[in-house]
Amino acid sequence: MIKPGLKIGILLTLILVLPSLFFSAYEISNINQNEAVIDSIYSSQLESILFSVNQYSDDVISGWANQLDKGKYGLDQEMESLVTKNYSIDAFFLIDSLKHQLFSKEKIPEDSLTILTEKLEYAFAQNANEIERLQQYIKSGYQKIGVLDFNMKGKSLFAFARTVDSLSVETVLLLIDIEKFIGENLGPKIQGIAQDQFYISVIDKKRNAEIYSNVVYDEGEKNIQQRRKIWLFPAYDLGIQMKGNTIENLVRKRTRTNIIMLIVMDMILLLGAWFVYRNIRQQMKLTQIKSDFISNVSHEIRTPLALINMYSETLEMGRLPSEGKKQEYYKVINTEANRLSNMVNNILNFSKIESGKREYHFKESDINAEIEIILENYGQHLHKKGFEINFESFDDFPKLLIDKEAVSEAIINLIDNAVKYSGNTKRIEIACNTDLEFANINVIDFGIGISKKDQALIFDKFYRVSSGDLANKVKGSGIGLSIVKHIMDAHNGRITVKSSKENGTCFTLSFPLSFK
Ligand code: ADP
Repeated sequence: MIKPGLKIGILLTLILVLPSLFFSAYEISNINQNEAVIDSIYSSQLESILFSVNQYSDDVISGWANQLDKGKYGLDQEMESLVTKNYSIDAFFLIDSLKHQLFSKEKIPEDSLTILTEKLEYAFAQNANEIERLQQYIKSGYQKIGVLDFNMKGKSLFAFARTVDSLSVETVLLLIDIEKFIGENLGPKIQGIAQDQFYISVIDKKRNAEIYSNVVYDEGEKNIQQRRKIWLFPAYDLGIQMKGNTIENLVRKRTRTNIIMLIVMDMILLLGAWFVYRNIRQQMKLTQIKSDFISNVSHEIRTPLALINMYSETLEMGRLPSEGKKQEYYKVINTEANRLSNMVNNILNFSKIESGKREYHFKESDINAEIEIILENYGQHLHKKGFEINFESFDDFPKLLIDKEAVSEAIINLIDNAVKYSGNTKRIEIACNTDLEFANINVIDFGIGISKKDQALIFDKFYRVSSGDLANKVKGSGIGLSIVKHIMDAHNGRITVKSSKENGTCFTLSFPLSFK
């Protein structure tokens, strides 16, 4: 069968700890989900920033194409003007069925001019399909910028078609210096978008080298989180990262703190459950101790009561032959009644101590004399039980400020214990002495003794040594020594024990000489 304590422990774990553990697990899995959501929001934010940079470069070139169409002056003049004003435009190349016309920034020497023209014408021929597509677009009223395959380091070639009249279209090629375009057009846009929150850079894919960045930062800080192709310059990528703490880091940090907090919470709950469990176990132990106490006390009371009953009945029946025998019976009844009243007093005093109502009345008294009185009252009873009792009084024993009754009660308790736990060696010694600080009363027996472990516990209320034949057999309430300790505390004194198993025990009551 499961012990009730264990049952409560299991129940507590089920009721308190398990739900919280489930909750923690649920929260932890949720945190990961939240992290994923935040992460995706963050990714799309970065994505849209890169998109807008891309869109902008598209807009710049479309703007130029637009200017050629809608400019105030003729096409030639507009081209001249654009080439001169825009640092990044190397040349415009106009191609229609009749003429090939080049507008370049600088005056190019004749042979280079021929080479460039040839290259552009070659590119035009090579990208015939794309050109055809662009012309289809313009015919349906939409001007699109196309990127042509063009093999020239650091340059990009674009094309767009334009309508000359309702019948014919012509194509304009636009040669751009990429790095200049980035510096002149994308740079300011990137600066504007990035503000102080992002690092945005342009990366040459072939060399995997950065050719532009909105801020100069240490290599160590670099941790590009998103990279996207630049639509117009497929050989280049845009890279972006958050400045300082990235959202990922923030989320990770938050997740870590949350998990730690949850673990701490679980631990507190576990600790709480353990405390409650311990408390309940203590309460149950206390209930057990109390019921043991009641059964022990009842048993203790029953013995003198039975004796009184028996002796008084015999007396009542008048069967005793001599006066001497009668006297003997009266004495037994008297002693047992005294014992009974001592027991009841002990219990009453204990309950007073427990409720904090016990009062002490100190008076200067001679302890030697008190012990003599006790022995006078108890001596006979002890002798009858076969005990030899020696009292070694101490002539110079000082008069002490004590509560006479309480101290007698303490000594009687010790003598009672000596009787109960003496076994076969029925000898008790009481010896008084003084040292520099204390006046001591020793109550010594030669009985079963107390183990070191139990010596530390016997002054606790209800504690009874449960090992050993005699200790098991002897009935007691377990409150005697706790009362003695309380009395000694009230006198600012102490009770100490010296004992070894099977060799007897010496309890010492020490009263401070300075207690006035
Ligand atoms: P009890 O009513 O059980 O005697 P006490 O508080 O007086 O309660 O003593 C507590 C326990 O200390 C006893 O149960 C006993 O085991 C042990 N004890 C006390 N006095 C002695 C002694 N003189 N010799 C051996 N054991 C003792």
